[in-house]
Amino acid sequence: MSASARNKPILPGATIGILGSGQLGRMLAIAARQMGYRVHTLSPESGSPTGQIAEREVVAAYDDLDAVRDFARGVDVVTFEFENVSHTAAEAASEYAPVRPGGNVLHITQNRLREKLFLRDKGFPVTPFAPITNTAELEDALLSVGLPAVLKTAGFGYDGKGQRIVRTPEALREAWTELSGEGTASCILEGFVSFSCEASVVAVRGVDGEVKAFPVVRNDHAHHILDITTAPAPETDVSLALATEARETAQSVLETIDVVGVLCVEYFITADGRLLINELAPRPHNSGHWTIEGTPASQFEQQLRAVCGLPLGEISLRRPAAMANLLGDLWEGGEPDWAAALTLPDVHLHLYGKKEPRPGRKMGHLTALADSAEEAAALARSARSLLAR
Ligand code: AMP
Repeated sequence: MSASARNKPILPGATIGILGSGQLGRMLAIAARQMGYRVHTLSPESGSPTGQIAEREVVAAYDDLDAVRDFARGVDVVTFEFENVSHTAAEAASEYAPVRPGGNVLHITQNRLREKLFLRDKGFPVTPFAPITNTAELEDALLSVGLPAVLKTAGFGYDGKGQRIVRTPEALREAWTELSGEGTASCILEGFVSFSCEASVVAVRGVDGEVKAFPVVRNDHAHHILDITTAPAPETDVSLALATEARETAQSVLETIDVVGVLCVEYFITADGRLLINELAPRPHNSGHWTIEGTPASQFEQQLRAVCGLPLGEISLRRPAAMANLLGDLWEGGEPDWAAALTLPDVHLHLYGKKEPRPGRKMGHLTALADSAEEAAALARSARSLLAR
């Protein structure tokens, strides 16, 4: 395909190919269907959250390159909702359709070590870290990073999976043996950041290089999984100056990595008021779900517009908002009491169509809108507590 054909806008009626089939793909597919696009999805799952909305659900492994090529032949643009698709698969797809963001973005962001080295080399503020790819490096890392620290696998980690907090050299050695699979996989040792809060910025970059960043949000986690997002982050947590810096940093990350699409920058805010990048997610992010009701064009619509080469949408705030995740644990006492939560004003329910409510599994979320972000967060929490049987 010629470069000019690749840069032509992809208009409604065209087909969006999504690699991955979870809730992020589902909400992207809903935005796409709303604007008159067709959607195909590829993943190893059938009857998936995205597949329920898409017109075509291809069930194949991400490393089945023939299946990925065949999938790409049937769509106008390929994007992904799951960043652990190999960049070889992204390259195979790009033989037949533009892949946005490109394989280079996947390559950097799907490995924590590569991501941190890249960010540090480009002068972005990151947590102190050192690679541990063999036992000898473990002692060096211990000296340079110090304790307490967090040992993480370099690849395939999310929601706190593949990481251990370590407080003693012995604990680090044990964690390394366990997480590295007896030394077969690389790890990264990060200094433990005693943060005052966690925050994130979802930003989007178009084919023409235009970048927009949503307001900074505050993220509260429970058991390493996002629990509540408060939008915008209250000024008592993130000062206006820091909020500007966080959005500018995010914009610059998207430009530096040459992203087309949505990318989320997750930050720690240190006790002495500095921003440190924790990690990047090159796709719509859980901390941006509130944008569906909270802004004129959600992160999913922005992703669609960006990968289709259309003008980006407005990112301003309609009303302060908060999002509460609904994990499978909520089903312990039976089906949650949906009607009870929906009696509250401006509370919105999103369920992802997952059949099995396992503990810790993201089954849906609630978004609450109110006059202030703190009120919205309180409303989202109350609505969620009404669900429990
Ligand atoms: P991650 O999967 O790297 O985003 O980590 C999940 C959560 O673990 C983060 O949102 C933090 O709450 C916590 N965490 C991760 N890395 C660190 C660190 N270096 N220092 C302190 N807490 C961390």
